[in-house]
Amino acid sequence: MTPVIAFVGLGHMGGPMAANLVSAGHRVLGFDLVREVLTTASTTGVEVAESAAAAAAEADVVITMLPTGRHVLALYRDQGLLAAAKPGTLFIDCSTIDVADARAAHEAAADAGHRALDAPVSGGVVGAEAATLTFMAGGGEAEFAWAEPLLAVMGRRAVHCGGAGAGQAAKICNNMILGISMIAVSEAFVLGERLGLSHQALYDVASTASGQCWALTTNCPVPGPVPASPANRDYRPGFAAPLMAKDLGLAADALRTAGIDAGLGPRAAELYAAFAAGDGATQDFSGIVHALRDTAADAPKGTTTA
Ligand code: NAD
Repeated sequence: MTPVIAFVGLGHMGGPMAANLVSAGHRVLGFDLVREVLTTASTTGVEVAESAAAAAAEADVVITMLPTGRHVLALYRDQGLLAAAKPGTLFIDCSTIDVADARAAHEAAADAGHRALDAPVSGGVVGAEAATLTFMAGGGEAEFAWAEPLLAVMGRRAVHCGGAGAGQAAKICNNMILGISMIAVSEAFVLGERLGLSHQALYDVASTASGQCWALTTNCPVPGPVPASPANRDYRPGFAAPLMAKDLGLAADALRTAGIDAGLGPRAAELYAAFAAGDGATQDFSGIVHALRDTAADAPKGTTTA
């Protein structure tokens, strides 16, 4: 039988994900704290529930797509989501949250007699709308197998990364690579400018040499070499800088908790936090090239810059 789904958190990502489940023939009971968000969701066929707990009480699967781990744990424990659900309900949290919070969510679900999966996504709003997301899942084999057909409705790929929290671990490790590599590519373009190198010349060399990476060849931070990159449309996201700042903050916390004295992850988190708090608030994360260029411009010639 087609499982009934409760979907809590119908924002930029959750709204289109829930709509895709409706299109695939699922009954979806949705809830969000924001009235306008609920109105939009109802136009896609989501049945608006009175509360998150009321939606969970009727569902076989509860999917959450919320801002932070604090929101997820408060909803699960204090706002009665786990208590309201039928025994054995599968809780899939797709939010990007701290690994420790994800593990706490798994534990709380198990204590309440339920099953759980952490399944954060990559692919952004465009991927959520087009059902081309990648899911990174953590939890038991059986839970993943059960969830897979639902994840296939909302995305193109689902990778089972390991036990509780492994999906979140994969997500923050990947985004730490991405954040650091975007800074590296941006600094290289700024240095190239100082050395009289054209953007195109640096791109032509690095894109086919050992400097090649996604930040350069897909999301190139300067306009020109990659016409589809956000740099060519005034740095409109794309992947918004505040979300990169959030993910790097989670990675920096995880490094600290793991006792790893890393140099670049925490530094990248600092740079993105400062950028996202200022000009970067509404920009794609590749806009950090401006902040790095400004820093370089402030430095007297002949000194090194961050
Ligand atoms: P969003 O702010 O648009 O949506 C979150 C929704 O959760 C909001 O509508 C909010 O009202 C609702 N909410 C918060 N607390 C609630 C509660 N107790 N009960 C019911 N609803 C509640 O955020 P988003 O962009 O959809 O992102 C959601 C998650 O996905 C975040 O963890 C984010 O890091 C992650 N993510 C986002 C993107 C992206 O491109 N936007 C990409 C990958 C991952």
